[in-house]
Amino acid sequence: QWIYLSGEYVDKSEAVVSVYDHGFLYGDGVFEGIRVYDGNIFKLEEHLNRLYDSAKSIMLHIPYEKEELEQIIAETVRKNQLETAYIRVVVSRGAGNLGLDPTSCIEPRVVVIAEALALFPKELYERGVRLASASSRRNRPDILPPQVKSLNYLNNILVKMEANQAGVDEALMLNDQGYVTEGSADNIFIVKNGTIYTPPVYLGALEGITRNAIIDLAEEKGYEMKQEPFTRHDVYVADEVFLTGTAAEVIAVVEVDQRQVGDGKPGVITSHLLSEFRKITTTDGVQ
Ligand code: PLP
Repeated sequence: QWIYLSGEYVDKSEAVVSVYDHGFLYGDGVFEGIRVYDGNIFKLEEHLNRLYDSAKSIMLHIPYEKEELEQIIAETVRKNQLETAYIRVVVSRGAGNLGLDPTSCIEPRVVVIAEALALFPKELYERGVRLASASSRRNRPDILPPQVKSLNYLNNILVKMEANQAGVDEALMLNDQGYVTEGSADNIFIVKNGTIYTPPVYLGALEGITRNAIIDLAEEKGYEMKQEPFTRHDVYVADEVFLTGTAAEVIAVVEVDQRQVGDGKPGVITSHLLSEFRKITTTDGVQ
């Protein structure tokens, strides 16, 4: 397996970075997760825009033009002869002194990993997932904007651990005011009386590429689609709940905090959006 590592393609066994890298020492960096469907890199431009925006927000200079990085990503997929894959792009501040100050980090590290995708089991899509709300909260947008996909994922890891402890598949993350924001690595949607709702990102969610694709699809298919704040109560009494993300695509939620959602089976609108989403994954990509 070839890994792109700051200018070279190296074997997986040689793809190592310094222990002085501030990505490792402090979580100082940004990343993206991208999918390849039948040789097409899905929404590559959107992912690159988010990566460069995240980097800009934390004043991290990515040492390539977007087009160059696009080529590098495509080449990494090609070199590994992958048709269906998951790509991880990481840009870290690079190696420096032990102090927090990033001015000693001269050269950002750019890593691209592409590997065969471990798909979520099919039965999970048929049965739907169970959620539990976590006590750890999404950090406030004025502290570290959740729109920055940074290497600091402790919030998300802590809620995922809470979900594991509760014996469910995924966590429901709230913000400091108790509004629903997202899952540990997915955005959330609810359906009530035929209208689809997702939280506005300013409440504390990553602006998911899959989220945006689903908003567009929902509108295109004639559903009423609203970005409005909602609470756990609204999730409990929703007719349908689903999560979206690069890894999860669109996945139904059938239980939240031990309350059954709807009739306990993936909902009709959720299933419709999943099938429509699957239609665009192979046609909306970069080859
Ligand atoms: N929310 C968080 C915190 C994430 O890490 C992700 C995954 O990237 C998502 C939501 C879903 O975003 P996307 O659809 O771009 O994968």
